[in-house]
Amino acid sequence: MDRQQEFVLRTIEERDVRFVRLWFTDVVGSLKSVALAPAEVEGAFEEGLGFDGSSIEGLARVFESDMLVQPDPGTFQILPWRGEHEQTSRMFCDVLTPDGEPSAADPRNVLKRALGKASDMGFTCYTHPEIEFYLLKSQDLGPDGVPVPVDQAGYFDHVPGGIAQDFRRTAVTMLESVGISVEFSHHEDGPGQNEIDLRYADALQTADNIMTFRTVVKEVALMEGIYATFMPKPFSEHPGSGMHTHFSLFEGDSNAFFEAGAEYQLSKTARQFMAGILKHAPEFTAVTNQFVNSYKRLWGGGEAPSYISWGHNNRSALVRVPLYKPTKGQSARIEYRGIDSAANPYLAYAVLLGAGLKGIEEGYDLPPGAEEDVWSLSSAERRALGHDPLPSSLHDAVRAMEESELVAEILGEQVFEIFLRNKRAEWHDYRIQVTPYELKRNIGIL
Ligand code: GLU
Ligand code: MG
Ligand code: MG
Repeated sequence: MDRQQEFVLRTIEERDVRFVRLWFTDVVGSLKSVALAPAEVEGAFEEGLGFDGSSIEGLARVFESDMLVQPDPGTFQILPWRGEHEQTSRMFCDVLTPDGEPSAADPRNVLKRALGKASDMGFTCYTHPEIEFYLLKSQDLGPDGVPVPVDQAGYFDHVPGGIAQDFRRTAVTMLESVGISVEFSHHEDGPGQNEIDLRYADALQTADNIMTFRTVVKEVALMEGIYATFMPKPFSEHPGSGMHTHFSLFEGDSNAFFEAGAEYQLSKTARQFMAGILKHAPEFTAVTNQFVNSYKRLWGGGEAPSYISWGHNNRSALVRVPLYKPTKGQSARIEYRGIDSAANPYLAYAVLLGAGLKGIEEGYDLPPGAEEDVWSLSSAERRALGHDPLPSSLHDAVRAMEESELVAEILGEQVFEIFLRNKRAEWHDYRIQVTPYELKRNIGIL
């Protein structure tokens, strides 16, 4: 047993931990959890814990139903919302096949593989997510068939006595107590919409943090008698919820995206990384924007990107190069604005990183940046400038992904196939729906 594992066992005893939850994630990013008695933890470290993989979306085909989860001791945390006594804790797990090999179908393993490739090329990948979500009065819809937000406030509003700031204070305290550092939190543009930005961390830790974040935010909302949703676009007339993510690559201690004196102080590595993301964006959008509803956000305004372009401080761009002080070279980074708050963070970060690395490997050229508002151009102007559209629906995104050798390679054949199957089924389900929109528009006149 290693030192981290010993530390976990000692803490369980000293802190009177009663339940140890083992967490892992299915292919669409739903959190799965199994509670373990403390006496079983040592065995789970050594041999893993068996479960029926065929019951978890995307984890195994039926003939491979015996799978194992093995807890990662470095992710051990007490869960503060479960009370002081008989405490509950959790560890993220790796999913293994019955013979103890990492499962090709485990999203956490997909991201580990992508990070392994970065590491072979000499890079560590850091990420910093800005997570947007809506706070609603409840999960139930209002009388007009739309969700009911907790307030009518907007961007950066401070509402005296408002529910949202109490919520943010409790959520941020709770996040800090499970080891997740928060940089900013504020009210966003939509009524009831909030944003919490996590401090940068390596990409695997960020993905784990996002899974924890969603649970904490939902738990705190329930404690306050409200409901939190990460749905990409819950209101047609208000902005959607993005999960803009900043990326940087480090070589040892130095930021490989920084070059003093270069345009925007961006190194060749950064430009090639960005070029890779832009070139492959249509192919991986099904992963970063995985639901039918995701495309309502991308094409519904509210500062969500619809066209493939990059820009310096240009909020209509898909990739933005944020401003930073020239003395702060270590904070050189790029921001991907396409991804939404309902993405599976392991798979989404794997495809974004993989596309960027491909750009470096192949030495892609970065197309010219867009300094104008891409939305205000005519389609002819956009075409002339090379700002192609992102896929306009889940169907288009699935079609583009099906053709992608790169995405198949990054996800691995098994996740690639299972993901596509899941998304084709979602599209099929959606397209046979008769919606309130059609009924309202058509029933009186047709
Ligand atoms: N809510 C917008 C989106 O869906 C982003 C607004 C912002 O720039 O923070 O991407
Ligand atoms: Mg925002
Ligand atoms: Mg942003």
